[in-house]
Amino acid sequence: MLTTILIIVLVAFLFLLAFVLLRTLSFARQLPPAEPAPEEAVDSAAAAEHLAEAVRCQTISSLDGNAQNADAFRALHAALERMYPRVHQHFERQVIGSFSLLYRWQGAQPELPGVLFMAHQDVVPVDEAALEKWDQPPFSGAIHDGFIYGRGTLDCKHQLIAVLEAVEHLLGAGFQPQRTVYLAFGDDEELGGYQGTQAIVQHLQSQGVRLRAVLDEGGILAEGMLPGVKGATALVGIGEKGYLTLELKVEGAPGHSSTPPQHTAIGVLAKAIAHLEANPLPARPSAMLPMMRGLGGAAPFLMQMAFANLWLFGGLVKRIMLRNPKTAATIRTTTAVTVINGGIRDNVLPAEAKAHVNFRLLPGDSIARVCEHVRAMIKDKQVRFEPVGPTIAEASPLSPDRGAVFETLSRTVRSVFGALPVAPFLVLGMTDSRYYTAICDHVYRLSPVLLTAADMERVHGNNERISIAALGKMVQFYVLLIRRWAADMEQ
Ligand SMILES: [Zn+2]
Repeated sequence: MLTTILIIVLVAFLFLLAFVLLRTLSFARQLPPAEPAPEEAVDSAAAAEHLAEAVRCQTISSLDGNAQNADAFRALHAALERMYPRVHQHFERQVIGSFSLLYRWQGAQPELPGVLFMAHQDVVPVDEAALEKWDQPPFSGAIHDGFIYGRGTLDCKHQLIAVLEAVEHLLGAGFQPQRTVYLAFGDDEELGGYQGTQAIVQHLQSQGVRLRAVLDEGGILAEGMLPGVKGATALVGIGEKGYLTLELKVEGAPGHSSTPPQHTAIGVLAKAIAHLEANPLPARPSAMLPMMRGLGGAAPFLMQMAFANLWLFGGLVKRIMLRNPKTAATIRTTTAVTVINGGIRDNVLPAEAKAHVNFRLLPGDSIARVCEHVRAMIKDKQVRFEPVGPTIAEASPLSPDRGAVFETLSRTVRSVFGALPVAPFLVLGMTDSRYYTAICDHVYRLSPVLLTAADMERVHGNNERISIAALGKMVQFYVLLIRRWAADMEQ
């Protein structure tokens, strides 16, 4: 009897094991071939000089409006006109809003939806106190030891210059796109893109423009980015999280602190905050599936097995991912209490207490659902809450991680950077590209430059720089991608 039970258990276990292994083996996606592309004769040294010149224009986006730095934006526009004569001869160019630029190169088949390449002209300021940490002054555009230094060399003037270099080169080579090619360079991305990219998209919409593909910054090409994945990986942003700030408010009766109620307005608010922190929105490890599949065989086997069998290992995966705030943010809508205010003196009961709670919404969690969740967790009518602006955005729709447009992008990354995995992922922050989802189903985010962990700290940080070789590679990438995306890629 006992033997029979043992045999049954053993057989059941073997079936389970076979099932788990089969699912694991069929889990990873096949990556497109990585055939090297013929090198185009682009001039990296000239591109470096052009980037240096763009860096010297101090196009810092200002909370008081970009009119503050009007001269810098105008100087940048004049420099672009001088550096890219063919572009300015063959493209229609429009200034939108204050200083945003939209270029249009009519395709041979204008009835086909066009393709659009993004970058932004504005940069973040440099912290005066950190000036001595720069090897070269941040707006000098100094070229030293094979690097171009300065604010914007990694975010995002490298992209602005590389895409213009690529188009200038293609025009020189007599290339004629089938699809119309647009270049769109906002001037207030670092402030949310409200005057720039939002206006560009509204303009395109008013012209009835639909786009086949858009490429912006926001994705990463880096080494050692994912635990257990060796070598470089390209993570292409196929969507981004939403953004919502709720202001929580409690009103109290002002009075003398010698005869307080059991909970003051601040106490009531504190309790609500504690409830929200203790009860975040549910985590969903399945949000990571497209990325894990796209990594192909590059992820460690056990990791692939766990994700291929979330029905069995979902709980474990969730526990592991929630341990680290960075991985936790990829599988849930995050809750961050960021501002608190209340009270005026230590012997006066507060008449009011307020807090801001910032949520970054996972696709699938709508603003309405987050509000419902907050109401259910707080369970206290004394606490009122409402969304506060300026930024309120649902999570973006996800662009497809298969099909001709994505595959062509993936193939181009592998042609230029070698046989590395190109996986889709969810951008945790926000980019201007979210506006384009109104007129395009294929919005992708990737800066085609291979970064190290140290480089990533330079973005918005100290000693921002890019190597001349990396800039040259960016140009190669854009030349190839424009050739391919602007072709008749209708399947
Ligand atoms: Zn940027």
